[in-house]
Amino acid sequence: MAEKITVNNGILNVPDHPIIPLIEGDGVGVDITPVMTTVVDAAVAKASGGKKKIEWKPILAGEKAIAKTNELLPQESIDAIQEYVVSIKGPLTTPVGGGFRSLNVTLRQVLDLYACVRPVKWYPGIPNPMKQPEKLNVKIFRENTEDVYAGIEWDAGSAEANKLIEFVASMGKKIRPNSAVGIKPISEFGSKRIVRAAIHNAMKYGLSKVTLVHKGNIMKFTEGGFRKWGYEAAKEFSNTVTEEEVAKGASAEGKIIVNDRIADSMFQQLLLRPDEYQVLATMNLNGDYLSDAAAAQTGGLGIAPGANINYQTGVALFEATHGTAPKYAGQDKVNPGSLLLSAVMMLRYMDWKTAADLVENAFQKTIDQKIVTYDLSRQMEGAQEVRCSEFGDAIIRNMD
Ligand code: NAD
Repeated sequence: MAEKITVNNGILNVPDHPIIPLIEGDGVGVDITPVMTTVVDAAVAKASGGKKKIEWKPILAGEKAIAKTNELLPQESIDAIQEYVVSIKGPLTTPVGGGFRSLNVTLRQVLDLYACVRPVKWYPGIPNPMKQPEKLNVKIFRENTEDVYAGIEWDAGSAEANKLIEFVASMGKKIRPNSAVGIKPISEFGSKRIVRAAIHNAMKYGLSKVTLVHKGNIMKFTEGGFRKWGYEAAKEFSNTVTEEEVAKGASAEGKIIVNDRIADSMFQQLLLRPDEYQVLATMNLNGDYLSDAAAAQTGGLGIAPGANINYQTGVALFEATHGTAPKYAGQDKVNPGSLLLSAVMMLRYMDWKTAADLVENAFQKTIDQKIVTYDLSRQMEGAQEVRCSEFGDAIIRNMD
């Protein structure tokens, strides 16, 4: 019988037949989501000898939700993500224009999914712009709820903006009249919990370096605060040591080295010395830029996986990181890699490691065989171009 995943003190209890809410997504969601569920079902069945099975629970969001309920994000869907703990989603359309907030940003904030986790590594054979793409293998922990993404901003000329400009003037700081203004909150609480999450992850996967990324040289109190609180959070762990302490002679043996880099330098470092970095902890905006730039370096912008997690409540929403690619919707054409590899992250989060490895290894084997969708085949010599669903079928055949 299908059951809910439960959480006790942040530890997941996953039954053999867990119910997992599934947002198909708009646009190409209709193509990639069924491929993901088919591949995952095959891997779970194979890994468990038929003992385990996910019960997918379709929930509404985006265009399909509007059509059925007249709401973009029904409360029922938000409640299901909370209640069933682990969920996965395809891409959702974000209408451009005033007064409308991205559904993704809303989901992250409403459910306090504070850690946006984006692992970035190269799968051999994936076309990419680098000379040595294998040198980059990082996990980015981006804070998801604060910073200039908090949604606290007002239009130029609005009564609120003018009031804020006046208030700021009363504290001796000048803002030009008719400016749009926004507020950038960075808290001790938010900074420490994302850095703790990054360090816990390094510990879990036996990694030895965590880097705090910030622009504290310019924004002394917000980004500088993130750096300061990050180091304070690191001190709570007995097995961390700072780069500075190591430079002064402290032993790094068996420890996690914590260091920090100015954000612009971090972009250079990922290009010039990528193998010196393992886990990056960032604020919201820096992390947004850095995640996509890093994914591009491995050729993985279309296949990069991602998750939004609250490690205290255990609630996690895994997602395709690309958009709805409306031009290709319903054509069984696009690459299902991003959602598939997000499902691999999901299986690891559930501690279903064998199934996760089966999918990831079969994905690599399929790339090795140069069986790929149009986006990769046009950049690969001798590739066999297949449809989205055929790529999924090839992955299932390659599970051994
Ligand atoms: P997009 O990611 O949909 O498309 C960018 C380019 O990448 C296009 O050329 C597209 O064809 C290609 N592409 C995307 N996914 C692909 C895949 N799986 N395989 C092969 N090629 C792929 O970005 P966009 O065009 O800027 O945005 C379209 C819509 O998606 C907008 O409404 C936007 O708000 C939304 N969006 C949603 C998310 C999300 O739900 N996480 C993320 C980004 C954009």
